[in-house]
Amino acid sequence: MKVTVLVGGVGGARFLQGVLAALGEQGDVSAVVNVGDDLWLHGLRVCPDLDTCMYTLGGGIDTGKGWGRADETWSVKAELEAYGADPTWFGLGDRDVATHLVRTRMLRAGYPLSQVTEALCNRWRPGVALIPASDDRIETHVVIDDPDSGERKAVHFQEWWVRHRAVPPAHGFASVGRDQATACPAALTAIAEADLVLLAPSNPVVSVGTIVDVPGLRAALAAAPAPVVGISPIIDGRAVRGMAEACLDAVGVEVSAEGVGRHYGARSTGGLLDGWLVHETDSAEIPGVAVRSVPLLMTDPEATAAMVRAAIDLAGVGGAGAATGGADV
Ligand code: GDP
Ligand code: CA
Repeated sequence: MKVTVLVGGVGGARFLQGVLAALGEQGDVSAVVNVGDDLWLHGLRVCPDLDTCMYTLGGGIDTGKGWGRADETWSVKAELEAYGADPTWFGLGDRDVATHLVRTRMLRAGYPLSQVTEALCNRWRPGVALIPASDDRIETHVVIDDPDSGERKAVHFQEWWVRHRAVPPAHGFASVGRDQATACPAALTAIAEADLVLLAPSNPVVSVGTIVDVPGLRAALAAAPAPVVGISPIIDGRAVRGMAEACLDAVGVEVSAEGVGRHYGARSTGGLLDGWLVHETDSAEIPGVAVRSVPLLMTDPEATAAMVRAAIDLAGVGGAGAATGGADV
């Protein structure tokens, strides 16, 4: 079965582990990955969500933190700080730097990000096709009141998220470069050819929201022959991990499984969803969308695989043995 998943970083990567566990050998999985968090640091192109997916699925992730490389050391960061080289708030680990060096060199040689990612994945073999939502530069910026000066300004999403821990309220988000960007052709193909499209329980605003706002992507989802099923990142009115509440507040969406489901909306009325999975303790009423309550805690790949099987079942695309590959692992 061909499954295409829209993903951000940590939540998306964990979900992909479950997709692989659910589909087993018969799976053909593509991930359309958010690029809105990408940034230039010290002359290097850093793609946090792509790397989190690549390291997690390739066995190189720091499992404790959920991002960055296992057994990381921080000499480069310390040396940059000794020079007073800004910014100092983003942790560039020594092992991680090698990834950014290879990526930056290839980008400078003219390769599109999708091909660069493929080349990096030759080492990591993530088991899914990792496709950037766009080969173009699209960066999420956040309008905040500067905590020091009080001045209203737009900062890169990472500065708000990592440096300020999303404490200053966001007045809004802007996807810089979006209007000149196009979707990665491979992402459009993966959506058009899928038997099932899944929206991972990733941040609905700055992961999934940024992906579907890439020109061409929302239309591709609308036209997809496959059903589209989303998984709620909100359980009992809270983001399971991280600070997604701050993003939902900023765009005026209620922090609940129903709120996010309604924000995505039914595909039959111009939205994104045919089906919506909420946690077993949650319920949701979304016109035009089939909703089912199942356990949604990604405690390990097998628990996550059960979520994926529920999504397949809700979508009615299972067929005989379609998702049994990893069922008895
Ligand atoms: P980021 O790019 O690293 O912030 O990661 P994502 O956007 O892919 O995922 C972040 C989202 O994952 C958060 O909004 C969390 O609520 C959600 N999340 C994390 N763990 C779980 C889980 O176990 N279950 C569910 N349903 N959502 C989760
Ligand atoms: Ca992210």
